[in-house]
This record gives sequence, C-alpha cells and structure tokens, in this order.
Amino acid sequence: MSLRHEEFFALAIDPDEAPDPGLVPAIEEHRASCAECRELERDYASLVKLAKSMWFRLPPVSPGHKERVMAAAREVFAQGSRGSSATT
Ligand SMILES: [Zn+2]
Repeated sequence: MSLRHEEFFALAIDPDEAPDPGLVPAIEEHRASCAECRELERDYASLVKLAKSMWFRLPPVSPGHKERVMAAAREVFAQGSRGSSATT
C-alpha cells in the first residue's frame, strides 16, 4: 500500500491525531521514496512558526477596522482598474 502526497501530509506532516499504527509502514515508505514530501515535512515546522509569529504581531481587530480595510480595498481596486491599461 502506498500513500498519496495528501494522505502523507494529513497523516505525517499535519496530523489531527496520531496516525493508525497500521499506516506507519506506508508513511515511512512514502517519506523514503518521496523527496517532495520530505522537503515539505522539513520546511513545514518553520512555515507554521512563521505564520504564527505573523499572526501574533498583527494588532487586534479594532472597531472600524473592517470599514478601513474595505475602503483600502476599494482604493486598490479603483487604482488597479485605472492603471491596468496603462501599465505593462
Ligand atoms: Zn509525496
């Protein structure tokens, strides 16, 4: 039995719970044979750490925050539609 990348990811890299012991040989096999997943597994911890540290630094959402974001988004869209024909 061999795993697909997604299965390996769900079981070995980002498991919700410890994998079924019966699947461990298949996990080991995929890890040994798939460089892509080995790389992802190696980088995943630092990616998660990075994402968490970014969220941690974000200021708490304040009243009016959504309105400001929407206003900024409208601004960007307005600029984007104006500039799209002029810029290359
Ligand atoms: Zn893989």
